[in-house]
Amino acid sequence: MIDKTLNQIVSKEKDKLNNELVLIASENYPSQDILDLMGSVCSVPYTEGYPLSVSKQGRHYAGCEVIDELEEYCIAKACELFRVNFANVQPMSGSHANTCVYYAFCKPGDRTLSASLSTMAHLTHGSKFTHSGRFYENHNYELINEKLDYDELKKRLYEVKPRLLITGYSAYSHKIDFQKIREIVDQYNTDLEIDTEFPEDVAISDEEIQKAIEAKKCILWTDMAHFSGFIATHVWEDKYDPTQWADVVTTTTHKTLRGPRSAIILWNNPDYCKKINQAVFPANAGGTNQAAVAAKAQAFIEALQPEFKDYINQVHTNMQALINGIKEVDIDHKLRFVSGDETENHMILIDVKGAGITGKEAEDMLTANHIICNKNMITGDIKPSDCTGIRLGTPAITTRGFTEEMSNTLGKVIASILLKQGDPQEITSVIVSLLNEIGEFYK
Ligand code: PLP
Repeated sequence: MIDKTLNQIVSKEKDKLNNELVLIASENYPSQDILDLMGSVCSVPYTEGYPLSVSKQGRHYAGCEVIDELEEYCIAKACELFRVNFANVQPMSGSHANTCVYYAFCKPGDRTLSASLSTMAHLTHGSKFTHSGRFYENHNYELINEKLDYDELKKRLYEVKPRLLITGYSAYSHKIDFQKIREIVDQYNTDLEIDTEFPEDVAISDEEIQKAIEAKKCILWTDMAHFSGFIATHVWEDKYDPTQWADVVTTTTHKTLRGPRSAIILWNNPDYCKKINQAVFPANAGGTNQAAVAAKAQAFIEALQPEFKDYINQVHTNMQALINGIKEVDIDHKLRFVSGDETENHMILIDVKGAGITGKEAEDMLTANHIICNKNMITGDIKPSDCTGIRLGTPAITTRGFTEEMSNTLGKVIASILLKQGDPQEITSVIVSLLNEIGEFYK
């Protein structure tokens, strides 16, 4: 029997999830089937290694025949969904998957190039608070007018000469042209090959020269954790799909993809199989949790259904409707939409300074009204704790059945709360009626 205290905690969390409006852009409500698989018996066996179809070393312990079938099935579904050649489905979180990418392609001390934490990047994109900033020498490309600028990125690539170029984001409301970035990196790598000189008096074979050049070339990595739901449904033009252009792609499975809390790594080049698989096991994991692998497979199957494409389109429609609702109330433009008031994905960043409040105060004011979001750094902020922005996203409310009209209403409510306008009782009654309309998600 489950311990009484634990039962109470779980049931409190369930009530909380059912009675709040989650606008955290990185959160979603996975299906009960996914949650059930997360707690399944597949987490019991010790599964160090890979099925023989992935690595000829196979598993390190006996008894993995059934799990081999599971992992192969999950890999096949990941490849089918994202239309790639290879997938590693063992990483346990986005940060874990990202650590494996550094390990696969970099040596300690290598240079890396990413956006900065205060513009759009995740902590694992070179921040000094993580291994990625401690063990590698990270440099940044800046955004211009709060948008990714391809000329700036190219300029920094030639200045920094990184081993790893990191693209992708945690806080950005626009698509990225990965085809363009691929062209920039290809040109850079060709120039590097031409410009690399070797001393004439040292005996070095052509093969060694080629190996040395390959080791210096820039690897293009995209962390599509936030927008992988859009990529899985192929609703964006090919140039915005990193799986077609980046050397390696990582994603969490629990954000727009609506799967379990976990992650995967994707790539197309067979030359990278050994590097990436060995970077996961044995370099950065022992036996991974195969219950999560089962839950990931279920998430990929759910995302392959036509309804999931409707869901993703609705996520975007709802985000824009929510922004429009805020604008309708905020006639004095005290709330500033970072990089413009048109979102191309599931989120928006709002600079709240004009309303005379901090990001933390905005977060607290919304939480007091059962609306959950996160404070967020925006360009110019120095410390995450003193940030002046909030980030809003619609993946979770859309899963719960929010329509365009309801999202617009919620936008108006959010603006009224942050600008301290309107009757608090009226605001509460609108929130209660929105919650009643969607009902309980988890029974
Ligand atoms: N990558 C990006 C772009 C993220 O936004 C996040 C988390 O939000 C992560 C990686 C880390 O994922 P996890 O929390 O699963 O470690």
